[in-house]
Order: sequence, then structure tokens, then C-alpha cells
Amino acid sequence: MSDSGKITLALAGNPNAGKTTMFNALTGARQHVGNYPGITVERKEGFATLATGGEKREFHITDLPGAYSLTAYTQEELVARNHLVDERPDAVIHVLNAGSLERNLYLTVQFLELGVPVALGLNMMDEARKKGLTIDSDKLSELLSAPVVETVARAGKGVKDLLAAAGDLAESRKGDAWSPLTISYGPDLDPAIAEMTEKIEAAGFLTDRYPSRWLAVKYMEGDEQILTLGRNADIDLAQELEAVTARVSEHCQSTMNTYPEAVIADFRYGFIASLLKQGIVRREPLRERIEMSDRLDKVLTHRALGPALMLGVLLLVYQITFSLGQHPMDWLGLFFGWLGETAESLIPEGLVQSLVVSGIIDGVGGVLSFVPLILIIFFLIAFLEDSGYMARIAYMMDRVFRMFGLHGSSVMPFIVSGGVGGGCAVPGVMASRTLRSRKEKLATLLTAPFMACGAKLPVFILLAGVFFPHHEALALFLITLSAWAFALFAARILRSTLIRGPSTPFVMELPPYRMPTLRGLIIHTWERTWQYIKKAGTVILAISILLWAAMTFPTPHEADLAPLNEAVAEAQAHVDGFPEDTDQATLAQAEDDLAMAEAALAEAGLANSLAGRLGRALEPVSQSAGFEWRTNIALIGGVAAKEVIISTLGTAYSLGDVDPEEAFSLAGHIRSDPTWTTPRGIALILFILLYSPCFVTVVAIRQEAGSWKWALFSIVFNTALAFGVAVAVYQGGAMLL
Ligand code: GDP
Ligand code: MG
Repeated sequence: MSDSGKITLALAGNPNAGKTTMFNALTGARQHVGNYPGITVERKEGFATLATGGEKREFHITDLPGAYSLTAYTQEELVARNHLVDERPDAVIHVLNAGSLERNLYLTVQFLELGVPVALGLNMMDEARKKGLTIDSDKLSELLSAPVVETVARAGKGVKDLLAAAGDLAESRKGDAWSPLTISYGPDLDPAIAEMTEKIEAAGFLTDRYPSRWLAVKYMEGDEQILTLGRNADIDLAQELEAVTARVSEHCQSTMNTYPEAVIADFRYGFIASLLKQGIVRREPLRERIEMSDRLDKVLTHRALGPALMLGVLLLVYQITFSLGQHPMDWLGLFFGWLGETAESLIPEGLVQSLVVSGIIDGVGGVLSFVPLILIIFFLIAFLEDSGYMARIAYMMDRVFRMFGLHGSSVMPFIVSGGVGGGCAVPGVMASRTLRSRKEKLATLLTAPFMACGAKLPVFILLAGVFFPHHEALALFLITLSAWAFALFAARILRSTLIRGPSTPFVMELPPYRMPTLRGLIIHTWERTWQYIKKAGTVILAISILLWAAMTFPTPHEADLAPLNEAVAEAQAHVDGFPEDTDQATLAQAEDDLAMAEAALAEAGLANSLAGRLGRALEPVSQSAGFEWRTNIALIGGVAAKEVIISTLGTAYSLGDVDPEEAFSLAGHIRSDPTWTTPRGIALILFILLYSPCFVTVVAIRQEAGSWKWALFSIVFNTALAFGVAVAVYQGGAMLL
């Protein structure tokens, strides 16, 4: 302790460990900067006060230059060492980068060997934690017999505690001689070091400043400064000591092809390694997480319980989605309905109004109304993925997959494509790259598009709401299961016929479970939702407009429309002709007649359009699955992008809307239309689930399969399968009902 009653401290550590940051945090503005005499190394000093338990302690702190070691190799190291030896601070605050403890402790060991009292500041704990490191600082403190404090100097965290610890250490050691740590340097060096230490002590050689064993080690290391000091102090002893080191050095070179310095460094690192091995640093909870994961997996991937729980989780995902998302979705639907009406009242009747209302607002709005549900389902899926459960689903499905001629690595493409809902077949198809066997890859490519991708979901949600009110979640769950069933079934067929071949083995590493972070979940959810929104505003908008045009042009000949126009005009006149006091029922009847006439007019336009003609041309065939020409239009649009199905259905029906009094609602329309029977609804759901992949997916299949042959095959095969299933359901249903 200095005369003034202040505690003198030195801040030391590797360059960039945070000494200066720590120094600033400790001293604030109470510092001044100078140079060590004769050299350019900066000398920074400052003051700090700390009140503990009513007692005020004053500190004088010196920020030493950064050093990796206390040898005399660099000027900085020498300055740091000389400061300690000459100025004898009451304690050293050793700032370490906690993230690379092993390297930083090399300097610590040398402080301990010198005997100077050190308090360790494990700095940059924020980054260490981010790297997943935990450090048992109590244990480290115990093993080194030195106080250890975790700090984040940049945020000022732990800085006061470290100062207090250094203060306590300084006071407890007040007036005591330094007590150096002794490390063994092995059978080659230890005897020589002991011999030299004895000589040094007997002669009192430089021992006023340095510990005797430390001097011996420095001789071994060939420390220039000590060698010079030695020669000046006692030339005879110095020569004796140098002779011992020369002997040992020669021995090291001849037997181990190395030098004593290297041996010393090795043993210091060995000391550190054995220290750290006692559980000081842990790569965060990995071990515990693995143990906990194993325990969880005993249940979650149990042979019988696992699949049951998996189905439960899946059902829960849909249940949550619907119970949370229904209202926001309805509100958005109302909003777009209102927007359409407003546009209708602002824009004069004609092509432009039709484009804006039927083409753009119905098309894009139809897709955007589903954003709340999509958002929730993506959030839940992100939770399953981030937590590690999705990998378990893949793991469990692997067993099933083998039976159907697929591979464990096929599970991910299925899941990515929307196996749990809300995926996309394009990345799903690309994910099949991980499959090494070409035949298994082909089978995966061709069947992954069966999954309920994010674009198909809105149609399913809408139709589930119409045909299975109050059981939407269960319906969606069953749709998902059907997707898997059909995919596996199709794979089995393909693998037994066109792409026959042996199955290859599969090994899967299960990552440990982890608690997803909210931040991660939000980012993942938003990325996908934004993708969906962006697609609605670009591709879907363009396709909607194209389809609107196809559903509007060519316009029918005036002559053909004349009777319909006349009927509308007549109905209008009839409505207008009533006196003010006409009773409501009569008026309503007249208004209905007018609406019917207008609907007939619009329908005539749609039927005459390009899309309408195509839809009608297909009707004789599609009828066997229950699809009339307007549905056909939507399904053709769906090949461009599945999102379009819902908006095209919307447009097709709103062009022929019967009830202008109510804001148009596709769901409401289908619900009130008696020809939309439940078998017809199910047939449509299954057809949409299974038929031709969308255009972008087909291109992706071509890329992955390497030829158009398989891409075209996927269009034909999937559509044929879908149609077969739809017909069977519709006809079967008709027979039963
Ligand atoms: P010195 O070379 O030991 O004096 O190190 P500095 O004090 O100059 O710090 C080196 C860098 O580490 C600077 O960019 C500091 O802002 C940063 N730093 C210091 N302490 C911390 C800490 O606790 N956490 C983090 N993340 N960065 C730190
Ligand atoms: Mg610095």
C-alpha cells in the first residue's frame, strides 16, 4: 500500500482483452496519459474511489501495455514486468477475454509464478455467453487461489465488484511477501531449476526484486534482461547458472529436438489444460441439453407414443391456428369487401370498374385475407422447427417411408413442401438433392408436390369452413394426412413400376432440443409471411389481371346480349316505377328480379370469354367429378399459381353475383348454392391437393430430375391421379347420399 493510503493497482492483460475499456470504466475522467521514460509506450494512470460498508477506499490504477507473456521479448512485455517488479502494486487486476480463456490464462500463470497478487476479471462475458460458454468462476477462483469476477467492461457490468475484489485482495496481502506458484516443468528441467534456485537463494542473487525460482526459470528461458542483470550483479554465479542452462538446453535438443523455453511453455499450457479440464469452461448446456433431449426423446419418439403425440401436435397446430386466426381473417375479408364496394361506387360502371373490383381487389384481396391464418400457422411451424421437434417428425416418418419405397431423407422435402402445412413445393423439390439414389430422388420429387403447401391452404381453409363448419381444424388435419397417404401411395406405385430399385440406408443425427427464441420465431414467421404477401402483390396480381382478362374477353356481341340487356332494363324500370309507399315484399321481389337479370347478363359475358369457353369445353369431362365450368376456370388458373384458385373462384362467382345487396363473399355464395354438396366439396379439396404442381414447381422438377420428361410426367400423372380420386369421391358420395 502506498504512503498516501491509496491502494495501488495495475491493470494487465492480453492486447484487446478490454483493459483500457475497464480502465475507463473504473476511473472515468480521473486519468492522465504519459509515456514511460525514454520509450514510446504509453503510461496511463487514474484514480478511483469505492465506498464499501461505509468505508471509502481510494485506488491508484495504472493501465499496463498489453502483453501475452512476461518474457522480455517485446518492449510492452518488459514494461509491464518492470512495472510490477519495480513499483510493486498492491494487486494486479488481470483482464481476460473469457471467450478464449486458455490463451489468456497463459499470462495469468506467469503472474502467479511471479507471485504478484492477481484478481481476475473474466471480461467479454457477453460474447462468451453468446458463444454458448459457461464458466465456473468460483471453481477457477478456488483452483488458482485468486478472486475471479465476471465482467462486461463495455457495459460497466461487474467492474465495481472486480475493483472491490482487488481492494480486498490488496488489503489481505498488505505487507506480505509475494507467494509464487510453483509449476513442475518435468523431469528434464525440474532438477536443474531446483539446483539453480538453491544457488540463487544461497547467494541472495537479485532476490531483493525477484522470486528465486522465478529467476531460475528465466535463466532457462534465456531471458535477456535477467541475464544482463545477473552478469552485472555476480559474474561468477551468473556464469555458473548459464552453464547449467547450456547443459539442459543441449540435453533438450539432443533428446527431444526442442529448447527449454518450448518445454516451459508446454508445461504451462499443460497446467492450464488440467485446470480447465476440471469443468471450468463448458460449451453451454450442450451436455445437459443432450441428456434432457435423450430423456424427452424416450417419450416423444417412442415407438407407439411418438407417432400418437406427433398427430396430436399436428392437430393442435391447426386448432390454435383457427381459434386465433378466424376473427382477424373475417375482419380482413370484410375490409376487402368494403374496399370493393367503395371502388364500385367511385368508378363508373364498365371495364375499368370490373378490372379493379373483380380482377384486382377480389384477386389480391382474396389472397391477402388469409394473412392472419398464414401468419399463425407459420409461427407454430417455426416453433416446431426451431425447437428441434421437426427433426423428430422426420425421424419417426423414416420408418414408414421405407415401406413405401422412399428414403429417410425424403421426409424433409415433404415437410418443406408443406407436410405440416404452409410450405412450398419449390424448395421442397430442391431439398430432394440430399438423396443420393436417383430413383429415390425421383420418387420424392414427384410426390412432394402433393403436400398442402401455403398456397393451397387458403382454398382448404375456405372450403373447410363451408363444408365442415366448427370442425375446420380437424378437416385441415385430415387433409394433411391425406396428402401424406396419397404421396406414399403414389410413391409405392412408382417405385414398383416406373422407377423400381433397391432402397438405400439412412442414418439421422437428432440435434438436441432447444427453447426457440422469440426473436428467431418472429424472424422466421415474418420471412415466410412476407414472401406470401409479396407474392400476392406481384405474381398473383399479374396472374389475377391476366385471368380477369381471359374471363372478360372476348366480350359477347351486342346482338347476343340484347335480350339480356332488355331484361335488365325492364327489371330496372319495374323497380323504379313503384310508388314510394309500395310494401317491402313487393319491392324486394322486384329487386331480386333485377339482380337475377344482371347476373344472367354477367354470366353470359363470362361464359363467352376465353376462359369461360375453355371451362365449358372441359365441363363434360369435369362434371363427373362435380366441377362445373367456373370451377374449371379456377383450376386452370391454379396451374399458374395455386393461390389464384381462390381469387379466380371469387372473380368467376362475383362476375355472376346474384345478391348485390350483400358484400360479396365466396364462402357465403358456395354455402347458399345447393349444387355445392359435401361430396363435391371434398372432391374439389382432394383434386386441388393432388393435381398438377404449379408452374414454378414443374420447372424445379425439371431442374432436379434433369429432363422435361419427368416434369411433364408430374403434370399428367398428378392430374390423372387427382381426377380419379375426385371422381371416385364425388360419384361414391352421390351414391351414398
Ligand atoms: P485493451 O487492448 O485490452 O486495452 O482492450 P480495449 O479496452 O481497447 O478493448 C478492445 C475492444 O473490446 C474494444 O472494441 C472494446 O469496446 C471491446 N470490449 C471491451 N470490453 C468488452 C466487453 O466486456 N464486451 C464486449 N463485447 N466488448 C468489449
Ligand atoms: Mg488498451
